[in-house]
Amino acid sequence: MSSNNRDDFTPNDKRIMAERVSWKCSFPGCYRNTVGPNSDDPSKKINNGIAAHIHAAASGGPRYNPEMTPKERKHISNGIWMCRNHGNLIDADYTEYSASTLHDWKSQAEKRASYSLRLPTQETSNKDTTLVQLGNGIIYFAHWNTIHSQEWSFELVAPLIGSADSLNHYVLEFSSLCETVKYVVIESQGDARKILDIKIEVSSEGKYILFINVDKKPAPTNPHDLGMDLRVDDTGDLSILNGALERVQGIDNAWQMLSICMSTIKGEIDDAKELGSLATQYYNEYKSDLEIFSKLILLELIRLSLIPLVRRNKQEKIPSLHFIKRFLSVRITSTELIHSRFKAHIKLEWGNGELWDGEIPIFVLQT
Ligand SMILES: [Zn+2]
Repeated sequence: MSSNNRDDFTPNDKRIMAERVSWKCSFPGCYRNTVGPNSDDPSKKINNGIAAHIHAAASGGPRYNPEMTPKERKHISNGIWMCRNHGNLIDADYTEYSASTLHDWKSQAEKRASYSLRLPTQETSNKDTTLVQLGNGIIYFAHWNTIHSQEWSFELVAPLIGSADSLNHYVLEFSSLCETVKYVVIESQGDARKILDIKIEVSSEGKYILFINVDKKPAPTNPHDLGMDLRVDDTGDLSILNGALERVQGIDNAWQMLSICMSTIKGEIDDAKELGSLATQYYNEYKSDLEIFSKLILLELIRLSLIPLVRRNKQEKIPSLHFIKRFLSVRITSTELIHSRFKAHIKLEWGNGELWDGEIPIFVLQT
């Protein structure tokens, strides 16, 4: 039997491999479902997926690694779940698809499956569901409960980023947290505030209810008061027009500041680690889901327009994007990078009430 020379996966490992990616193809952009009912036989299923070997099961096969033991070759960690088309493609063009690429795809596919497990169900995700962010690294799906100007309350549904443990830690240790992480961002309201006080209660039905006392909303400024600045071109260099450095002012300057602020990687400015955005982190982790990626970018924009982080004088801090009153929508339709920048289609209202609608290039560092 030829199969004697092949280090094949066990049927059980194949099934687990498929289940770990919710039976979806792991090829980036495909995500085709590979399992369903057999229409001729109500007791049978159809499985259109393949447990492909990352390093081939037999000598002479794609990405065969002679250093591996048979046990390593047939181990579940050496497999990636694919639809038939892509399972065949990666084996036909194996010089193009390296083992490390396939390992990356596998871990991305498992991340997507893990994330989709946390999504609220149709039943719980009614129109009141919103993303609520607490400080850096905790984002929950939640329902509005009550809102009285500076007292907000939510029922937490499920975490998108972070966990119940990180949430409990945030609430219990709140008084000793750094001031720069004491903030909340609400996607549906387009609102963000400094948190004055926070507590959690478990309702009689076992639901987590969050109560937050928030600071007042800072008043937006007029973008026409921003003055003049040097223009930065598409590649991030200073723009030169007729031999001189070009300048921007008014709305053009506000637009440019918005782009630069979102393109600054949070933590990269040594003496102001709280400045900048998480666009790079979100791009690398969530670009395969444009809906969630757009929502996360919106949260960053809301945060930067309302949470005071930039020192204006000794007493007062203002938000980085203080000249924006509110964001109406953010849509990202492609994660293609041009000069290392993706484009976000943004509708907003400037601090002076003028509406604006257009594309903002946002720089990211691809990992
Ligand atoms: Zn596929």
